[in-house]
Amino acid sequence: MEKSTSIVISSPRVKYSDEYIHSDYEYQETLVTKSGEEFHARPYHKSLSIRTQRRVGKVGVMLVGWGGNNGSTFTAAVLANRHQFTWNTKNGTMESNWTGSITQASTVRLGIDEKGNDVYVPMCNLLPMVHPDDLVIDGWDISPLNLAESMVRAKVIDYDLQQKLKKEMTTMRPRPAIYDPDFIAANQADRATNLIRGTRYEQYLQLRADIKNFRDKHKLEKIFVLWTANTERFCEVRQGIHDTAANLDKALRDNESEISPSTIFALAAIDEGCCYINGSPQNTIVPGVVQRAEQCGVFVAGDDFKSGQTKLKSVLVDFLVSAGLKPVSIVSYNHLGNNDGKNLSAPKQFRSKEITKSNVVDDMVESNPILYKPGEKPDHVIVIKYVPYVGDSKRAMDEYTSEILLHGTNTIAVHNTCEDSLLAVPLILDLVLLAELFSRVEFREDESKEWSKMHPVLSSLAYLLKAPLVPEGTPVVNALFKQRACIENIMRACLGLQPNHHMQMEHKVP
Ligand code: NAD
Repeated sequence: MEKSTSIVISSPRVKYSDEYIHSDYEYQETLVTKSGEEFHARPYHKSLSIRTQRRVGKVGVMLVGWGGNNGSTFTAAVLANRHQFTWNTKNGTMESNWTGSITQASTVRLGIDEKGNDVYVPMCNLLPMVHPDDLVIDGWDISPLNLAESMVRAKVIDYDLQQKLKKEMTTMRPRPAIYDPDFIAANQADRATNLIRGTRYEQYLQLRADIKNFRDKHKLEKIFVLWTANTERFCEVRQGIHDTAANLDKALRDNESEISPSTIFALAAIDEGCCYINGSPQNTIVPGVVQRAEQCGVFVAGDDFKSGQTKLKSVLVDFLVSAGLKPVSIVSYNHLGNNDGKNLSAPKQFRSKEITKSNVVDDMVESNPILYKPGEKPDHVIVIKYVPYVGDSKRAMDEYTSEILLHGTNTIAVHNTCEDSLLAVPLILDLVLLAELFSRVEFREDESKEWSKMHPVLSSLAYLLKAPLVPEGTPVVNALFKQRACIENIMRACLGLQPNHHMQMEHKVP
């Protein structure tokens, strides 16, 4: 399959103009009501016009924590792919790729050929998307090392590839950042020498100036700001400070100490019209930040990359529960030796991670009242230990015990060894590319209405996030295949195509 194959939809419901792909789409659902012991199900449909802007402008990414393992590895991966670098290892010559990225390395079933066989296309070919080679990268870090030095410190990229990347990455230096020792672990203090001083409001103004400077320097049309810095402790969400955009603004000007550095980054990004994505577990996106995003019409998304253990958990528990088996105990041990692990060895920062890791099976458990009584949940324990020797090669050991027929038990033990940053970096790419795509998609119910964008809380990115942030009062979906189907089917809807149903009636009905 050619990666560059383009897709043209032939349908009276889809029109291409120079500016947009227009789709007239019938959204179908089933409304269920309960009266007494009876469920009443009523299928309904809603006509939606969807238009997707075809032109992809020049896009910048600003990483908070640029000099970290993820930040330096992301930069290395973009450059290695852009220059199509090859490098030698003891296993032979390697080529750059984007393995692990759903947009670049996964396919979507488009339909069937004349013989009834499935036809798959790369996800990135479904709709116009930014090419990873075209991303312009910048960012902040409390550590002053340039990106070549950060890459060496991270010990993730193969030595020979490091040599090819060094020259260019030496010219990349993170902008000074906000350090508040109350929010990240005390063990990070020794690298915190590249700092923006002043009050919180002055720091916020500096971040805005940084974003403007980056935009002007590269003539960028859109910038995505993504937190991949250390995990902070949760901030204590207080009435009068974090609850509304106006209170948050006042608290920022008053230099209120419970406003976290990450919240200041989020506010600066939003006020510069940039989407803000939180790749760590902490509660950066407090209600006042959401309100500010709504007022400014920009996206926020979070929380915490869903890379290894949680991704598998949200597949395995979905499989068990939908197979009619009852997970009753889930115990997850991790050990890792990178700087993330060092930061997480402090109790308050570990607690942030524990919270995002703990709720990831809730929707699957609640979907099956045959197995679980209201409020009943499996025992679920998370342990994370810092073991410097293993570096970025994280170990995740999970034990899933389920009840099976007539109260028998079934225990599945999984041992996963994986380089953490090499799992997280493709997610950073996908988060930016999909958020950018969704920023060009608009909806309206009929011609009398204005076009509107997706809700500022971009829950469509849930596939990539451990504790998906959703608009207030809306359900959280953690099950991985539902999350993937959401992305795929929204993209299909933009092309006037119905969701994939996998019924294959062509082969079942004579
Ligand atoms: P890292 O410690 O290597 O990098 C974090 C960087 O952030 C460091 O260079 C540090 O100096 C910098 N930093 C800390 N506070 C900062 C601030 N206020 N402003 C700017 N920079 C700051 O960690 P990593 O392995 O790159 O992971 C980054 C984050 O991603 C962590 O919070 C981690 O929990 C989260 N995460 C990682 C994965 C994964 O790697 N698989 C998965 C999920 C979440």
